[in-house]
Amino acid sequence: MSPDLDTEFERLSLPLADPFTIARGTTETAENVLVRISDGTHEGIGAAAPSSYYGETPETVEAVLPEYLEVVERVGDPHARQRIERELRQVVGRNPAARAAVDIALADLAAKRLDVPLYRQWGLDPAEAPTSSFSIGSADPEEMRAKAERAVADGFSVLKVKLGTGEDAERLAAVREGAPEARIRVDANGAWTPGEAVARSETLADHGVEFVEQPVPGDDVAGLRHVRERGAVPVAADESVETAADAARVADAVDVVVAKVQKCGSLRATREVAAVAHAHGCEAMLGCMVASNASIAASAHLAPLFDYVDLDGSLLLDSDPFDGVPMPGGDIDLGGVDRPGTTAVDRC
Ligand SMILES: [Mg+2]
Repeated sequence: MSPDLDTEFERLSLPLADPFTIARGTTETAENVLVRISDGTHEGIGAAAPSSYYGETPETVEAVLPEYLEVVERVGDPHARQRIERELRQVVGRNPAARAAVDIALADLAAKRLDVPLYRQWGLDPAEAPTSSFSIGSADPEEMRAKAERAVADGFSVLKVKLGTGEDAERLAAVREGAPEARIRVDANGAWTPGEAVARSETLADHGVEFVEQPVPGDDVAGLRHVRERGAVPVAADESVETAADAARVADAVDVVVAKVQKCGSLRATREVAAVAHAHGCEAMLGCMVASNASIAASAHLAPLFDYVDLDGSLLLDSDPFDGVPMPGGDIDLGGVDRPGTTAVDRC
């Protein structure tokens, strides 16, 4: 018999340790919406980390959640996630972060009921989880150098550098000086024209950059292809891809496809993006928003399915009320997880 499920949600306003700047602007507080789903014995935790780029705000999440959670309570079975996911889309489409919050909380609850960590429920190999990058927001070169030095001192070996805000060459050079041995990736968040991206790619290559993420705007697939064909480093698509169909659409224009649970709308949909990318000969990266572990912990369990991982969002917060999967120096320690579910737990 299916249990009765109780649901609730609340806003989490989480100040960042430092303002975080990307090409589209600066964030000082991460606004998440926490979802709790309980069967009376276990509680599943998830969170939405809405992005206005994908058409969501904390207010839109709070507006649709009552209808979504009504579906959850009516179905009453945390193991019926395929059905619930379908019904959520029928009630109100789009709203991927709001749907992701519900899906993550259900997955957490289902795995807790089965008394297994989520990755073991899926049968994934913890040894396959790639090392996560640590993000260096755009700032003046001195500050970026200091952040890179600190990240290396904290054990991180992979850095992701946010560019596209001017002084790109100086900023990247400063990070490289601060982290001479690190693997470095660059994310322009769509700031450049195809011509600018090709011109800058020489500098990126000189600094040993592994790939450049979203050099041109998300809707410019021809621009991505141009940068890939003429530029000096491989190209990744992030903002260009929300669905598995998008991954197929950009696959011949890029080398890497970036999936995030918060833009794909569910854990299953995120896995599909990786599968489609791989089927088309691309690599796949798993990213996240600047957000609480209540949002990110579930993603860590998907990491073994990806070639690259960027799951440092909680580390950019001043403090996170939720614990997640341990990630010392970016090494995702899934094998050390001894709690069931996603491992997102209240710290207090
Ligand atoms: Mg990105």
